[in-house]
Amino acid sequence: MNTTNTMNACERIAFIGLGHMGGPMAANLVKNGFSVSAFDLSGAALSAARAAGVTIAPSAAAAVEGASVVVSMLPASRHVEALFLGEDGLLARMATGALVIDCSTIAPASAQRVAHAAQARGLAMLDAPVSGGTAGAAAGTLTFIVGGETTALERARPVLSAMGRNIFHMGASGAGQVAKLCNNMALGVIMAVTGEALALGVSHGLDPQALSDMMAVSTGRSWATEVCNPWPGVKPEAPASRGYSGGFGNDLMLKDLGLAVEAALQVGAAVPLGELARNLYALNSRAGRGGLDFSSVQELLLSPR
Ligand code: NAD
Repeated sequence: MNTTNTMNACERIAFIGLGHMGGPMAANLVKNGFSVSAFDLSGAALSAARAAGVTIAPSAAAAVEGASVVVSMLPASRHVEALFLGEDGLLARMATGALVIDCSTIAPASAQRVAHAAQARGLAMLDAPVSGGTAGAAAGTLTFIVGGETTALERARPVLSAMGRNIFHMGASGAGQVAKLCNNMALGVIMAVTGEALALGVSHGLDPQALSDMMAVSTGRSWATEVCNPWPGVKPEAPASRGYSGGFGNDLMLKDLGLAVEAALQVGAAVPLGELARNLYALNSRAGRGGLDFSSVQELLLSPR
């Protein structure tokens, strides 16, 4: 955590997108002494951020006025491109030399499009998607997975450090998004196969708790067995133990797997398990669980309820 409040106050930050992740991230910037002007299209998101001490601007354009850093945390590629690009986009309104840090998970090609447009206007841009979920956003312990110029990252470091604990520089523009998609593709596959293993064991009469406890210290261990176990009651803090509410939405995982498959097509890579997992989360969404935590894919394999 960065606690040099007076120094931070010199950096004026615009924060666009105050949802599940962006709201607590903006609040952590304020807690760390940054001057933040924020905007979201949703009234509920604005109220929550205001209650957490974030100053709200009347529009995204007003938020970026006089800002030296603009942080965005939006749902998908189309939202990010619509916000920054074009004659009315934010890039056209930002002061020369300002820095864009986009923390949304979007297509690597989309991040590169915005970065090139930023560069053409004398602005710097980093793709900095995150890992750590809503709990990490609230606690200020996110991992930032960054693509872009080293000089831009050094400038962004105090801002990122106020919202997270780990920063990985993966390479040039778009590399942060590629790395994030690799991580989430592995996560999506591991969660699905963990649910499948638990379903198999329970079908044979095994106790899901005993099976999970064994797997958590054996070679089948993972974040899915140890922390976000998909079987209700095995881990009291996991979304599965509260009806799969909160956590990382099935449809966000579906989006990330779609981006991973798209990225694979671009370079002719084979991602057979990623494609299979994408289909499983699509079926889970069609079964009405799109808004639930992605571990609810367990119900597709064997309903524990
Ligand atoms: P969210 O839907 O809760 O928040 C997105 C916010 O963006 C919403 O409040 C929406 O109103 C706002 N918005 C959309 N278009 C806008 C615009 N033009 N101007 C201003 N505001 C606008 O989503 P989230 O869970 O906060 O996720 C944000 C991003 O972070 C996604 O790309 C997601 O994949 C990624 N992510 C999420 C998690 C998680 O656990 N939720 C974890 C890691 C990464």
